[in-house]
Order: sequence, then C-alpha cells, then structure tokens
Amino acid sequence: MSDLTRLTAVEIAGLVAGGETSAVEVTQAHLDRIAAVDDRVRAFLHVDTDGALAAARAVDERRAAGEELGPLAGVPVAVKDVLTTKGVPTTVGSKILEGWRPPYDSTIVQRLRDAGTVMLGKTNMDEFAMGSSTEYSAYGATHNPWDLDRIPGGSGGGSAAALAAYEAPLAIGSDTGGSIRQPGAVTGTVGAKPTYGGTSRYGLVAFSSSLDTPGPCARTVLDAALLHQAIGGHDPRDSTSIPAPVPDVVAAARLGATGDLTGVKLGVVTEFSGEGAEPGVLAAFRESVDTLAKLGAEIVEVSCPHFRYALPAYYLIAPSECSSNLARFDGVRFGLRVGDDGNRSLEEVMQLTREAGFGPEVKRRIMIGTYALSSGYYDAYYGQAQKVRTLITRDFTAAFERVDALISPTTPFVAFPLGARTSDPYQMYLADLYTIPTNLYGGPGISVPCGLSEGLPVGLQVMAPTMADDRMYRVAAALESAVGTLTPPVL
Ligand code: GLN
Repeated sequence: MSDLTRLTAVEIAGLVAGGETSAVEVTQAHLDRIAAVDDRVRAFLHVDTDGALAAARAVDERRAAGEELGPLAGVPVAVKDVLTTKGVPTTVGSKILEGWRPPYDSTIVQRLRDAGTVMLGKTNMDEFAMGSSTEYSAYGATHNPWDLDRIPGGSGGGSAAALAAYEAPLAIGSDTGGSIRQPGAVTGTVGAKPTYGGTSRYGLVAFSSSLDTPGPCARTVLDAALLHQAIGGHDPRDSTSIPAPVPDVVAAARLGATGDLTGVKLGVVTEFSGEGAEPGVLAAFRESVDTLAKLGAEIVEVSCPHFRYALPAYYLIAPSECSSNLARFDGVRFGLRVGDDGNRSLEEVMQLTREAGFGPEVKRRIMIGTYALSSGYYDAYYGQAQKVRTLITRDFTAAFERVDALISPTTPFVAFPLGARTSDPYQMYLADLYTIPTNLYGGPGISVPCGLSEGLPVGLQVMAPTMADDRMYRVAAALESAVGTLTPPVL
C-alpha cells in the first residue's frame, strides 16, 4: 500500500487493529515519505528511524499476542523539538542545546508511547518557540508544502508542515501565543491549544511558564481530538496541571461531525473581524460564519474591548518569564559550552556560551524581559501588563455569559513569503494578534481550515471557556463537515 501516508489517524489505527496492515508497514511508508520530500520541506530536525521501527514492531507484537490496542496504536506522530525525549536529541531549535540528549521523557512523550503511537522524530521550530515562521530556528527555516517559498507558520512550523506534506498524520505542538494555531491556519491543518493546565508542561522546555501549553496537531478535527485525549489530563509532575479529567473532546468532535449546531450560540469578536486582516482572509471567514449559521448556530457580535491590548501585554509578560527561564542555560548544565580553556572564569564562560548559543530574537526577548522586571520599571511594565491580563480575562468571562464560544480568523494574513517579515520584529509579532488573548486568559482555542485566499489556506479560530475544550471541537468538526479538509498541491 503506497498511499498509507494519505490516511487519517483513525483510518490507520483501524487498519492496524484489523490486521489489514502492520504498524511497521505504516511507519516505513512515512519514513519513505520523509526521505522523499523533507529535503524540500525541512520539517524534521531529527528522524528517529530505529526508535520508530522498534516502537512499531512492539505494537505489532502486542496485536499478535491478542492484546487490546488503544485508539491510536500504530499511528506515527511527529513531535516538536521543545519536548524532551529520552536519549533522542532535543534542541528547541537552538544552538545552545545542540547535542543534548535528555535523560528523561516529557509527560506528553511518555503518554504518546503509552498510547502505542510511533514517534517518527523531532520537528523544526523557531528558537525557544519565539517566532511565527520557523525562520528563527538556528537550523534553517521550514518550508510550507502549499508553496515552498512561503513560511509554514511558527513557532511549530515543522509539526504543521509535516502534516501538510503527509510526512506524519499526527503531530505535537506547543502554544504560548499561537504557535499551534497559527501554523495550523497557514498550512491548512488543524491545531488545538488545550486549556492551560489541561496538558502537562513536564519536560516542555520552558519559554513563558504561565502561558506554555502543549497540544495536538492533525489533518482532521477528530484526529486532533483523539490525540488531545491521549496526551491530556492531570500530571502530578506539573504544579499547574488541572486535577480533572480531559473534557470529552472525542465525543464532541463526533457530535460536531453530524453537522448540526442547533442550540449553539457563537460570538463573532467585533475587534477581530473588521479591518486589520487581509481581505481574502476576511472573505473566507465571513463565508464560514454563514456556513456555521446554516448548520444551525445562532451568531451574534460580541465586543471584547481589551483584546487590542493583548499583543503589547503579551510582549511584556512572555519576555519577562523567558528572561527568568532561560537563565538556566549557563554553559554548565546543558548542551553548548564555549571558551572553557582553563583560564577563564565561570562568568566569562557563561557570557561566551550565551553570546554564541542564543540567536538574535531570543537575545532581544531576554533583554526586554530583564528590563521589564528590573526594579523601578517593574510596576510600569510587567505589573501593568498583568493588570491588562486581568481585563482580558474579564472580557472572556463576560462574553461567555452571552455565548458558548467565540470565533475569529486565526491569523490576519495567509502564509507570507520567506524573508518578508524577518527584518521587522513587530510585523512578525502581528501574526499572533488574534491568538494571544486566549493564552492570556488560559482557555482553549482551535484553528480549523475554513477556505482559501489566493490559493493559500485560511483558518478559523474557535475559543471556548476554560475546561470547555469539548465545545470548540464540536464547532470545529461541524465546520469541517461542511467545508471539508484542504489538500495541498502534491509534492
Ligand atoms: N509567535 C509568538 C511569539 O513569538 C508565539 C509563540 C508561541 O506560541 N510559542 O512569542
């Protein structure tokens, strides 16, 4: 079977469980696909061929022994290089961790193994998950399978591109300000940011700890829900993990797939549905709103007046937390060490290591964050941003008294050409204009393909109350049932 790479995770798991194909055959098909296209896409930083085939063999043996297999057993998955993988390189897209092989698995990766999925390798990302295009990766950019001269989004562009290029049916991302949803939108795939604390941060290399949320990426809403279910839920190793079961996102996705949204009330965010987005993005979004109404949803406009302050607040809070988190990269404990010739002081070695190991965007954020936290400026910057965060949360709370979920375009623009925004950080930051409020609030958000603009994918974002992740899956699956999945030009 040469078309195993075109199947959904549900289809693959069904074929493996029914003995119509083997996990090894499925895995080999994806490894072959990676070998055929990844020199052009560059989605992967590391392909773990031996580990993948060994995991696949283990699934086939369990099946042969008559063991009950889980709903994702034998399905390949690509993992963003922000999550630790025991013995497998983990770089976070940075030179400072080059060569580091973590001594332990992150909780997400452990749960992927427990579910019988097959990890193909680690995907490319902007350094330390800071960016919206993967161009800030220290290992070179990933290319969008829809148009290889364009960005695949970021920071998890590798995971999204791997899906769109049929190199993997499932992938893991992490979303601090939009890094799952925005790459999903610009590659025509599905990306979900779970409720903060709904997925474990144990073994997720920290960027901004009050925002970082690992989550599922897939080509269909149901596949994303199954992956969400497999990786989510309480983890005692993460102090902010929510001690409650994952909302039944799989049942919600199945319900949504019936295409009936009767009784569901959706709020179009006024501030994110006017000027500010490209006309083609707005047109696709507007058409999808009509579709959602035809499926039975009641649509109203909801103003969230503080959302316009989300971007500036985020660009104080995230760098502040990053400046603290990234202090651990000292040239002593992990990865790179520069200038340790026996004559230099510890401080000099730290300086040389950090100078050589961090890229320009990471340095910019560390400097901004250090400044915003310094005494005399703390109240004016970090303190003020935290107050704005509270106002944004109040906007969400008030909105969810009126509607079940909020909707907007996922990003203001489609995939832009590589290099178009690297010289102006602010232009890059705008990619997450619509996704950041959800992170500051802590609720869940999903991006689902909603159409094309000039031949490139557009995503619609659904935002739900905290711990109501199931609601967004229902709406996203309903839209998908009407719009269909988007298929990129064949590579
Ligand atoms: N693009 C945003 C940033 O650069 C979001 C990143 C993320 O979600 N990891 O910070």
